Amino acid sequence: MKTLKVNIVTPDGPVYDSEVEMVSTKAMSGELGILPGHIPMVAPLQIGAVRLKNGNNTELVAVSGGFLEVRPEQVTILAQAAEKAEGIDIERAKEAKNRAESRLQAQQGDLDFRRAELALKRAMNRINVSERNF
Ligand code: ATP
Repeated sequence: MKTLKVNIVTPDGPVYDSEVEMVSTKAMSGELGILPGHIPMVAPLQIGAVRLKNGNNTELVAVSGGFLEVRPEQVTILAQAAEKAEGIDIERAKEAKNRAESRLQAQQGDLDFRRAELALKRAMNRINVSERNF
C-alpha cells in the first residue's frame, strides 16, 4: 500500500510525524480525503479532527484551525494548536467547555460572543477526539 508522509506542526512544535495511507479532515470548503498522489493544494482548516489511517488503525488528532498543504507524497498541517487523542486532558477540555457556555449565556458584546463560540468549538472538538466520537 502506498503511503504519504504527514507532519502536523504548531507554534509550540511538532505534534505528529508519520507515514499513513490516508488523511481525512475538515477544510473550510468541506470534508477532504487525501490519498498518495493527490494534486498539490493549500486549504484552510476548520476546528476538527484529522484522521490518519493505516490499515484498520485510525489515529485521531484534534486541530484548532490552521492550514493544510498537500503535495503528492506529503501532507503538512500548520495548526494553531493540535493534540493527539491520547494527549488530550479531558477534564481541562470539559472545564473549558463549561466556561465557554457560561460566557455565551452572559450576553456580552459580539467579539466576546465570537471568542466564546470558538473556545466552545475547540473544547467540544477535544472532547470528541478524546472519546473517539467520529
Ligand atoms: P484552555 O482554556 O483550556 O486553555 P484553549 O482552547 O483556550 O483551552 P488553546 O489556546 O487552543 O486552549 O491551546 C493552548 C495550548 O494548550 C495548546 O498548546 C494546546 O495544544 C493546549 N491545550 C488546550 N487544551 C488542551 C487539552 N484539553 N488537553 C491538552 N492540551 C490542551
